[in-house]
Amino acid sequence: MPTATLFNYSFSLTQPNPNAHVPPTIRKLVIVGGGTAGWMAAMMLADALLPKGIEIEVLESPVVGIIGVGEGSTPWLRGFFDKLGIEEAEWMPACHATYKCGITFDKWSTKPGFESYFHPFASMLDNLTMTQFVHNVNARVQGADVHAHPNRFFIAAKLAEHDMAPKADPNFPFDVWYGYHFDAVLLGQFLQKKALERGVNYRSCHVKEVKLAESGDIASVVIDGGETIAADFFVDCTGFASLLTQQTLKTPFVSFSSNLFNDAAVAMPTPIGEDIPSQTVSTAMKHGWAWKIPLTQRFGNGYVYSSSFCSADEAERELREHLGLLDSDIPARHLKMKIGRVTKHWNRNCLAVGLSQGFIEPLEATALLFIQHTVSTFVEFLEAGDVGEPAKDRYNQRVNEHFEGTRDYIVTHFKTNNRTDTDYWRANASNGNLSEPLQELFRTWLSGRSIVADVTQQKLGKGYPVFSWYCILSGMGIFPESDQMRAPTPKEARYKMTEIDNLLARSALNFRKQKDVLAQIPPKRREDALQIYFW
Ligand SMILES: Cc1cc2nc3c(=O)[nH]c(=O)nc-3n(C[C@H](O)[C@H](O)[C@H](O)COP(=O)(O)OP(=O)(O)OC[C@H]3O[C@@H](n4cnc5c(N)ncnc54)[C@H](O)[C@@H]3O)c2cc1C
Repeated sequence: MPTATLFNYSFSLTQPNPNAHVPPTIRKLVIVGGGTAGWMAAMMLADALLPKGIEIEVLESPVVGIIGVGEGSTPWLRGFFDKLGIEEAEWMPACHATYKCGITFDKWSTKPGFESYFHPFASMLDNLTMTQFVHNVNARVQGADVHAHPNRFFIAAKLAEHDMAPKADPNFPFDVWYGYHFDAVLLGQFLQKKALERGVNYRSCHVKEVKLAESGDIASVVIDGGETIAADFFVDCTGFASLLTQQTLKTPFVSFSSNLFNDAAVAMPTPIGEDIPSQTVSTAMKHGWAWKIPLTQRFGNGYVYSSSFCSADEAERELREHLGLLDSDIPARHLKMKIGRVTKHWNRNCLAVGLSQGFIEPLEATALLFIQHTVSTFVEFLEAGDVGEPAKDRYNQRVNEHFEGTRDYIVTHFKTNNRTDTDYWRANASNGNLSEPLQELFRTWLSGRSIVADVTQQKLGKGYPVFSWYCILSGMGIFPESDQMRAPTPKEARYKMTEIDNLLARSALNFRKQKDVLAQIPPKRREDALQIYFW
């Protein structure tokens, strides 16, 4: 049995410390930008800083819209709302939100038996099946003919398959972790309302100039009409424009385009059906992948593609075909994406949060997690009184490692594909621009050794836990080919899949259809549900 921690969903989001020291130099903080990043940052900073008498003001341009397409989350968003004391029964209906058990990846591999797999969010119940999963996958990598596809080992996969919500009946002793789907525009409006109620100030105004002090710090911003707004600290939430961080402070940007090719997207809604699914579906397309996200009122759909391999018109046509909308006049929204990260998320007296700090393409819906992580870690440093240059270096290293680790996980989706239908997929499979830790992980996996050390001791572990790496590599069928398999030894064949099937089938009886659960969202269960450990 593995001894290392395969998964740990414990929250690192800091609780506000009423006695914590905040540098007296910060009396006023201005957030430029009122997208999801701006309002999430406002809420988290309000929680930590307003009680200390620090003024927070959000400036939002009435002429620049928000990106408005981020509709999926990781389980960490649950911690965001819990920490702010906002119940699901309040925010979910307001944002047309649904529960998310994980993501199905369809058609990313053509290997028989691995054409589709599910990346689950973890559950306490997985403690009863994780050993078997890891054991079987390890045996399969060694060439033993045992079942090693992730879907049959996880309750979340079972729930998603049957459109069930990951909310167990009260008598079921295991908590299931889950994320959400939501309408990004409504989420922004909800958070804005909450932030204003809690004492954040707001102005609808366009920032037309950013002024620097002699020190090189940001002194003030000038808004339409000419008024100057000064502050001690600025938070740049201006989206891809990155007005303060990249345009003004000239913070260098590290592009990820050498191993993440997608740089554009086209999105359009479709009606939701009778049942409401509890998973995101990501389907491989000719030049990228399409998402399908269920909300209470509609599906959000989109195609993320590489403009080096297809035009916007081709992408829109392929998406319409995929959705059965070739004859429909539902309007499509086209977007460009800049993939990579800045070198310094905290530069001088400015923190970049959201798309202004960087973006890894949306395949695993991690952007809101980055917003949370960036702000909560900043609050941690601030409350420790740790604001000098060495502290900023340590801070930036932490955020960068999170970006790199997550980037490598996303890259793995593309690198491990074995499609040969287009240049796009062939280029992804043959791409050698991989980080050293990722190359090492692939070598370890293919040699049949344990990848636990690779993930936990390297930057890779800052993105995804070992359990997720097992899911992606086994789900994509990165095993010896079937003609190279041998009969398992008795030790390798020690776990019976029928027993796991039975356990999950019986467990699933404690869950209900997503549609029924959403009609009456149950109250929060246990405080200790925030901590889930796997060995
Ligand atoms: C195709 C796609 C799919 C995505 N899917 C997901 C997903 O499933 N899950 C996920 O977590 N994330 C996803 N994201 C990312 C997610 O949408 C963003 O991380 C999130 O919405 C935060 O955006 P933002 O607030 O940083 O930027 P924006 O939404 O662009 O907001 C920028 C704000 O800055 C303001 N502004 C700009 N210039 C000025 C100025 N000069 N003066 C004043 N204000 C200004 C604008 O008015 C706006 O309010 C996706 C992104 C894309 C492109």
